Formats: sequence, structure tokens, C-alpha cells
Amino acid sequence: MCAFCSMKLRRRAAAVRRRMHCLWLLLLGLALAMLATSGFLNQDQDLHAADPSRRPLQRLPGPPELEVIVDSLDLALELGEDLAPLKSLQEDQLLFVFPSAHGSRTQPQSKRSYKMLMRGTFKDAATPGPARLRAGSLQREMEQASVQRHGFNEALSETISLHRRLPEARHPECFGEKYSESLPSASVIICFHEEPWSTLMRTVHSVLDTTPKQFLQEVLLVDDQSQSRHLKVRLGSYVSELEGVRLIRSTRRLGVGGCRTMAAAKAKGEVLVFMDSHCECQEGWLEPLLERVAQDRSRVVSPIMDVIDWQTFQFNITQWPVRGVFDWRLDFYWESNPQLQDFHPEEPVLPLQSPALGGSVLAIDRNFFQSVGAYDPGMVLWGAEQIELSIRVWSCGGSMEVVPCSRVAHLSLHHRPYIFPDQDMLRRNKIRVADIWMDAYRKIYYRRDTLAHFIKQSESPNIAERLRLKRSLGCRNFHWFLSTVFPQLYVPQDKPALSGELYNVGTGSCADYPRGEQQQGGVMNIAPCSGTGGQVIRTSSVIREAKLTHSKVTCGSVVAL
Ligand code: UDP
Ligand code: MN
Repeated sequence: MCAFCSMKLRRRAAAVRRRMHCLWLLLLGLALAMLATSGFLNQDQDLHAADPSRRPLQRLPGPPELEVIVDSLDLALELGEDLAPLKSLQEDQLLFVFPSAHGSRTQPQSKRSYKMLMRGTFKDAATPGPARLRAGSLQREMEQASVQRHGFNEALSETISLHRRLPEARHPECFGEKYSESLPSASVIICFHEEPWSTLMRTVHSVLDTTPKQFLQEVLLVDDQSQSRHLKVRLGSYVSELEGVRLIRSTRRLGVGGCRTMAAAKAKGEVLVFMDSHCECQEGWLEPLLERVAQDRSRVVSPIMDVIDWQTFQFNITQWPVRGVFDWRLDFYWESNPQLQDFHPEEPVLPLQSPALGGSVLAIDRNFFQSVGAYDPGMVLWGAEQIELSIRVWSCGGSMEVVPCSRVAHLSLHHRPYIFPDQDMLRRNKIRVADIWMDAYRKIYYRRDTLAHFIKQSESPNIAERLRLKRSLGCRNFHWFLSTVFPQLYVPQDKPALSGELYNVGTGSCADYPRGEQQQGGVMNIAPCSGTGGQVIRTSSVIREAKLTHSKVTCGSVVAL
């Protein structure tokens, strides 16, 4: 190789070595930079893990959302009772505190941590900030949206004190009433499903603010498997600070009756007071109820239920006398100013017997409740449970009344906000009422709800257990209930005596309606028998005689109901 060539090669090799050095230095620099960054991050994570509840929210670096973990153990019954307190957080800094889905039973150290979202970071937050609420038109929009979402003006409710006092609605004579000093203790049971914060907490505070401590054993808040975030850790933490309030969580959806029965088994008070999760009590509401139950343990009592308007949150006074009734469609309602023989206007503080009571607030002796069969466990989620309990209490040895010196206001909803998995749930519950308690009178209900009739026939619900209970308690029949407790319920004589096709044995044809006239009850024709059910008619006994004589047809295939 020539000397020139070997010099050129050496120079090239030196240049490559220099470039390699540069590359190494670059790589080293990068590696050091990465190490430094990860070290910093780790330090930051350690800080979070150390004690997040003590970290002031406003000092968080980066995005405002801090995600850490809550031990999933805490999601079991009694959630929230042993969680780290949120003392360092201001209530208005904290929009939601809720458990993370990543919690694990093998990480007990994660128990003291929470996931937090600052105001405004939660996109469909139902709870508006106070500043936004002040802007007039925006407030109206928020209010409309909240009515749609909750069935009442929750945005307005948020701005009303949790400790507001209702205007006095009791009759002046109530103030002269004296109650025994040794009244039984009460457990107030409040079952809730997806109840907004303001109405739920106003209910709880209203009970605490209006009830003498010596009569209140406890307030049992029972979460019927709500998913709303404000009802998770935030609620657990808030309730743990309230004396005498216990929070129970159900691990499956129980519905109104199931939830109340479950809570009753855990209650310690002598008297159970079931209360809806959106009520406000009037001062002195509990004593008159306890007094009546103490005098007769089989007496089930209700306050006068005043009404909180779903839009304005104004308080509407219910006129006395009032009592609970139901119709043949098995719909419950309060009947104001009924013409009652046992009502004497000169004695405005006397309780009045009531054929039924609504479920919004109801006081019942705990032992009597258990012995009379609690709520029917066969009923699903919601509806007609108050009618079932009413007929059962009366028929099986108890009684019901409205006590006028006790008043509680109930929020009337614009619509029911929560979703039911079963659209015919209410019907299914009514079918149980009819089949278990109404004997032959059940047909009057089925005639008013043909779909219920079909459901009952296709499903034949299992009512054996409840019929056994009815027998073992020696309960009276529905005829007794109608004639003794609720004689005002008119028993309609619309009972068809016969139904089927009217078949003329002479011509071999059937009575038929001209098309489209079935509803108006037009003159009938004679037509070939179709056999499809389209010619089925129903006749009352009177009409049957008239028609049969007049048209001289015999009822070949007419069958008695
Ligand atoms: N509720 C419940 N589980 C359900 C449905 C309702 O715990 O599946 C609660 C609800 O939150 C309320 C009470 O039961 O506190 C009665 O329900 P609601 O107020 O809807 O009945 P209404 O007053 O309209 O009869
Ligand atoms: Mn209600």
C-alpha cells in the first residue's frame, strides 16, 4: 500500500472514532436526562401515595385531576365508615370523591387514598358551581336540565339551606297536646336510590333538627345500590361526622319494600319510621306518631303529608281531613276533605282512620311489622307496596290512621328519574295485591287492566308463601275490608255475566258488530261465525236477558266468566 493511501486511511479512522465518541456522549446525555426525569416523577408519585388526603388540592402540579386508589374492600356493606377522613378538603373544593375501579384486596396501604375531581373537570356534573348559578338565564337553563335529569328542580334545591325550617302548618290546638315522656324510641329508615345530594341531606338534617334526641334511636340511611358518585365516598365521609346516623349499603338492588325490610332487620329502635329520601319534617312531627303507636302496637300511623313543589320548592299545605285510599286500578292517592262520619271539625287534633297509607312516611311498631310479614318479598322494586301493606295490616288485625298534629312534607316529583329494568313492574306488583288479598273482587281490577290479566295468566306468579302467611295470621277477607274499613269504595256492577260468541242455532250464524263500531256499541248484525275471537262480546246480566229475548238467539258458545 502506498504511504499516501495509508495516511488517508488513518485520517478516516480517526474521524469515525471522533463521530463515535460524539454519539456515545449524546446517548449518555440522553440516558442521564431520562434517569433524572423518572426520578423526579417517582418522587412525585411517592408524595401522592404518602397521604393524599392531607395534600391541599390547589397545590397539585399539572392537570387538576389526581387519580389514586381506594381499597375495593371499602365497597362492601358499610362503605365509607373506616375511610380516611377528608378533613383537609374544603367542601366546595370537592366536587366528587369516589372509589377507583382499580382497588385491590391485596393492597391495604391504598386504603387511605381517593380519586378526586376539581370543580369543572367532570363534564356532566349535575351540580353547578355557585358562581354559575348566579347568572340568571344560565340558572334557568340549569334548572330545566336538572328537572329533566332528576324529576325536580335540583339546581334550585342546591341553593336552599339543608337546615331550612318549614312554615308552621299545625292546628293551634296541637300546641296544647301533651305526650308521654316514656315514648318508645324510633329508627328512622331512609332508603334511597340515586337521590341527589341536597334533597337527601335536607331529609337527614330535617330529621335531626326536629326530633328530640331521647326518642331518636338512629337514622338508618340505606343505599339501594346507587351509582351516583356523590353517594359514594363523599356520602360515607359526611355521614360519619353526623351523630346517630348510620349508612348501610346494599350489594344488590332491593327496591322500596326489599330495602325497607332489610333495614328493619338491622334497626334497633322499637318503632320503625320509614321515610322517603326527599322529605322535610315539621317541628314536633315524631312525638304524636310515637304516642299513637305506643297506645296500640298494631296501629300503623302517618303524618299529614304536605307537598314540596318540584319546580319552586315551595311548601303546599294539605287540607285536613285527609286519608289514604285507592281505586280499582289499584292506584293510591290522598283524598282531601272526604265526607267522613268519624270526622268532627270541632276536634281537629283527633287522628282519623285511613283505609290505606302512602309510603312516604309511615310509623309502625318493629315487632308488629315483623309479625305481620314485613313487605311482600315477591314484589319488585317499586309500586303498590303501600296498598299491599295497607290491606294486610287491616285484614290481619291492625289498623291505620293519619295523625293531624304530625306533619311532614314530601317532594312531589315531576317524573320518576330512575330507570326500572322491568316496564311492567308496577303491574306485576298489583297482580300480587289482587291475587293474594282481593279474592273474587280481583276481577274488578283485571277488567280495568287487561294486560295485567294476560301477564297473570301467562306467568302464574308464585304467591303460595303469602297465602300461607295470610292463613296463619287468620286474616279477614276482602269483603270484610270493603264493608268495614272502606265502605266508600263503590263496587262497580260492570261485571259481565257472560262473554263469548252469540251463536244462533237456527241460522248457524253469529252476532257481529259492523266494523269500527265495537266501542260505540251499535246495533249488531248476524254474520257467519269467524271463530277468530273477533265476535266475542260481553254482556251484563240485564242486557243479556233483553237481547236474548229480543233477537231470539241462543248463546251456544257463550261462557260464564
Ligand atoms: N327507592 C329505593 N329503591 C328503588 C326505588 C326507590 O330505595 O328501587 C327509594 C327512593 O329513593 C325513595 C323511596 O324509595 O326514597 C320511594 O320512592 P319514590 O320517592 O320514587 O316513590 P314515590 O314517592 O313516588 O311513591
Ligand atoms: Mn317519594
